[in-house]
Amino acid sequence: MTSIAFIGLGNMGGPMAANLIKAGHSVTGFDLGPAALAAFVAAGGKAAASAADALAGADFVVSMLPAGPQVRDVWLNQGGLIDVLTKTGIKPMLIDCSTIDVASAQAVYEAARQAGFDMVDAPVSGGTGGAINGTLTFMVGGSEEGFAKAQPVLAGMGKTIVLAGGPGMGQVAKICNNMMLGINMVGLSEALILGERLGLSAAKLHEICAPSTSQSWALTSYCPAPGVVPSAPSNRDFAPGFMAALMAKDMQLSQAAAESANVPTPLGALAASFYQKVCDEGEGRRDFSYVYMWLGEQDRSDFK
Ligand code: NAD
Repeated sequence: MTSIAFIGLGNMGGPMAANLIKAGHSVTGFDLGPAALAAFVAAGGKAAASAADALAGADFVVSMLPAGPQVRDVWLNQGGLIDVLTKTGIKPMLIDCSTIDVASAQAVYEAARQAGFDMVDAPVSGGTGGAINGTLTFMVGGSEEGFAKAQPVLAGMGKTIVLAGGPGMGQVAKICNNMMLGINMVGLSEALILGERLGLSAAKLHEICAPSTSQSWALTSYCPAPGVVPSAPSNRDFAPGFMAALMAKDMQLSQAAAESANVPTPLGALAASFYQKVCDEGEGRRDFSYVYMWLGEQDRSDFK
């Protein structure tokens, strides 16, 4: 039986760890939140008292944390998992599935490599539905050897596992994916609102566009107009799903990366500012598709 330490058991990490348990692995987990830890125990996991305590006997260590600062904190600072592992003498394969900035991913990889550990960044796409159903897409950055070693664990949580390139390239793939999604959600929201104001219902426009050239996942599976796609967050008062605060974070990550690479991304910048405004108005814990509701409250003159 493979032993896995799992750090960060939130909306994504919780169901991902549960799928590893279902696949027959022994999973020891830690989360700062007591509710997340209790749900993990209810799913058959073993609760650890700290991230460091979860490592005992681990063949793999997986983290699924909010952002770069928490990932640096857990791996490099607070108790420093890399230091703890160095002291224990075990050599597990290290996998970070969080969506974080490329520089943090590469810094943690480099610290792990210097301490003699193999590590991959393996951010995911597929949302909480994909995490629950074990159908996530993993975009992996690291060596081919690390990619091969991580496969058995990633296969327990997802369906599509792609080696994007060297360390940090999983994060590059992820921020580009989410930049496309973030812009796409704003674009289709504008068009749905325009159609409605001109007298065409969102449901009718959806029926016409879903099989047409404007087709997208955000439209067909995640339509932000309530009453169109039953499983979409818009039909449960925009409960996430994928929080607007996390989309704002990911849009900022792509903007920071574009700035450092001197790449023009004007639509990305504008869409990023919209998700930030949703958060500033206190709606950051709602699903990111709430940007449709926010746009619906704006006036054309607000953008002149
Ligand atoms: P979340 O906030 O639900 O879960 C994060 C968990 O990490 C929380 O339970 C929190 O208590 C825990 N945590 C924070 N600091 C910790 C520490 N020092 N030690 C232990 N636990 C700690 O967020 P989520 O939705 O699960 O997202 C996790 C990551 O996955 C993010 O990077 C996000 O961008 C990415 N992601 C999310 C989705 C989605 O649909 N929710 C989709 C793809 C990728």
